[in-house]
Amino acid sequence: MSALILPSKKRLYPDPFIKPVHGTRGPCALCGHYSDLTLNHVPPESVGNFDRWNAKSYMTSSTANPGLIFGRGFPNGLSFRTLCRDCNCRLGGNEDKAIGDFFGRVRKTVESPIIIEGIIKITAKPNQLYKGLLAHLVSANDNSVPSAFDLEARELFFGRKSLNLSSWSLFYWLYTGPEIFVMRHAYFAIWHPTVKLIDMVVLKLYPLAFMFVRWPWFGGLPDMRFFLRSRDDEETEIPINMHFQESNAHWPAVPDPNSVIFLGGNSFGIVGQRD
Ligand SMILES: [Zn+2]
Repeated sequence: MSALILPSKKRLYPDPFIKPVHGTRGPCALCGHYSDLTLNHVPPESVGNFDRWNAKSYMTSSTANPGLIFGRGFPNGLSFRTLCRDCNCRLGGNEDKAIGDFFGRVRKTVESPIIIEGIIKITAKPNQLYKGLLAHLVSANDNSVPSAFDLEARELFFGRKSLNLSSWSLFYWLYTGPEIFVMRHAYFAIWHPTVKLIDMVVLKLYPLAFMFVRWPWFGGLPDMRFFLRSRDDEETEIPINMHFQESNAHWPAVPDPNSVIFLGGNSFGIVGQRD
């Protein structure tokens, strides 16, 4: 008798925190009209979101054993079927161009052979950047139930509420990691002077990271709200801190000895790696 030794085959499991996509009709995440839904790239294709990505949930990639999970494949860029054709076209025609230009200018600076230190100024259209990033993060809503962020974002995007009255700061910084990251509604705690849970909505793709939070400061990072203009198509120079570069896709949603991250029913995070 000889023992039969079978090669061990690793079994892979589906990601329990990524819901299957269903249906091509539903309420548009931006205007709310019931219509045929189109795929919206988050962030837009023009900033490099067109490759094949393999995406896992934030929960899986930060707490479980990601090696045992197979992710969801996105063959042509990370995208969500959540926008009606009109909203998608409008976004693609205006705000996406401002986002694409901004990424292009920042990438050029970061990759310049000349070492640039300190704060540099980049020409941008801050209103369109702000609105475009809002809209893309609204459209990353997988479950079609709008959050408080989504409701206010709709008012701001369609001009029913002035951008100057937005309660959401938009912090941005240089991001040098290889992963794409989209997070809606994880919460970090502030302990002093009183305990508060701060809702964060995050989007990252090299070379930039953005975070909407209802809090006026975050680690000395610039807030795009400071640079908003009276007209949406106005250009201005906005600062980038070349000293602050960070490469961890999850940050600041990374529990460390001084902070705790909370997830709630509407929390959703997705981390994509190039396939
Ligand atoms: Zn729409």
